[in-house]
Amino acid sequence: MGLSQAIVAGLAPDGGLYVPESFPRRGAEDFARASLVAIGERLLEPFFATDPLAPHLEAILAGALDFPAPLRPLARAAGSLSVLELFHGPTCAFKDFGARFLAASLERIPSPDPRPLTILVATSGDTGGAVAAAFHGRPNVTVAVLYPKGLVSERQAHHLACWGDNVQTFAVRGTFDDCQQLVKAAFRDDAIGAGHRLSSANSINLGRLLPQMVYYAQASLEVWRRERERANFIVPSGNLGNVLACIWARAIGLPIGEVVLATNANPTVTEYVATGEWRPRRSTATLASAMDVGDPSNMERLRSLHPEIEDLRRAVSAYSVSDEQIRDTIVRDAAELGCVWCPHTATAAWVYRHVVAPHSRGHWVMVATAHPAKFNEVVEPLIGREVPVPPQLARLLARPRIEREIDVGLAELRHGLEEVA
Ligand SMILES: *Cc1c(COP(=O)(O)O)cnc(C)c1O
Repeated sequence: MGLSQAIVAGLAPDGGLYVPESFPRRGAEDFARASLVAIGERLLEPFFATDPLAPHLEAILAGALDFPAPLRPLARAAGSLSVLELFHGPTCAFKDFGARFLAASLERIPSPDPRPLTILVATSGDTGGAVAAAFHGRPNVTVAVLYPKGLVSERQAHHLACWGDNVQTFAVRGTFDDCQQLVKAAFRDDAIGAGHRLSSANSINLGRLLPQMVYYAQASLEVWRRERERANFIVPSGNLGNVLACIWARAIGLPIGEVVLATNANPTVTEYVATGEWRPRRSTATLASAMDVGDPSNMERLRSLHPEIEDLRRAVSAYSVSDEQIRDTIVRDAAELGCVWCPHTATAAWVYRHVVAPHSRGHWVMVATAHPAKFNEVVEPLIGREVPVPPQLARLLARPRIEREIDVGLAELRHGLEEVA
């Protein structure tokens, strides 16, 4: 299976997830230049080597990774710590990297099929916004975003619905699970299939995972050049796509040491690492809502790399952080470090302070997955002041909302999709 085909398909025909057949080897000495695009080219060219997309890799990277991923040292923290800020993209969350790379790739994969490409996304918040932003205004592709009406924050709802043009937003009178069921049903529906070539853009797509390795490569190379040490990472995790990219970058040979997962109160992953038992379950709602996952699909990829539980335990460790600990961390780090975290990032900050720092050796990087202004309803009451809104978010909030409210049912979705095609 070639890379382009895997990107178009998303999921393998047997329902499994695509993984690279093998990992190329790249060490610090292989990277002469420090920009995201230059590092991305060196890192990803082996994955693209025999693919029709190969000649476009630089253009894809230049178009998609056109905002920075800065590494900021936190001098006031105990030990040696930096923050990798992944929230400088158009929707202020790390998913912008993957969504934009996927969009730039899909745009360049020719298809003999005359039906328009339609990306269906069910979202509980961040994914849909990043995907809508990434595809908005691109030719030959439309996006339909389905979100549970009333179950995402006001600002998130706005990011999902402020697009128009080739992006359609459906506010579904149901839950996130209902939205996912509707998307699955649409893929099986002949009437929709007759008019649309359907594809998905969720986090299991290789086109979203591969580019996420690039910021881990850049950060670890920076630490390596500065400190001559491997960087250890703490990654806020839900469906495990972000942390998997870190683990893959380490497998390729980048100077990455320990990888620590910070999860919210959903216990599936920490329980598995502790006991070796895999017990997926329904997710429970937490303050770090974009990590509310009870059956993380990328675990399959992690286990394919580390099939033995003992081996997996050498590769990663995992800690679960409660809502109360998230709140305490947001309050305390704002006061003591002058840093305001989003609730997801706060899980990593909690793990650093309470698990890592007490016996810290080496240099640590905590990953900031979203800007706190996206979660102002949680953050502002805790810190007692407003979080300034970054300009790109302010621009989106100033756009009008265009959405269609639908019941859980295929008929209304079918009808809505016809209006764009
Ligand atoms: C999606 C998301 C996460 C979880 O990332 P995974 O790749 O699913 O583990 C963490 N934080 C934020 C802000 C997110 O949007």
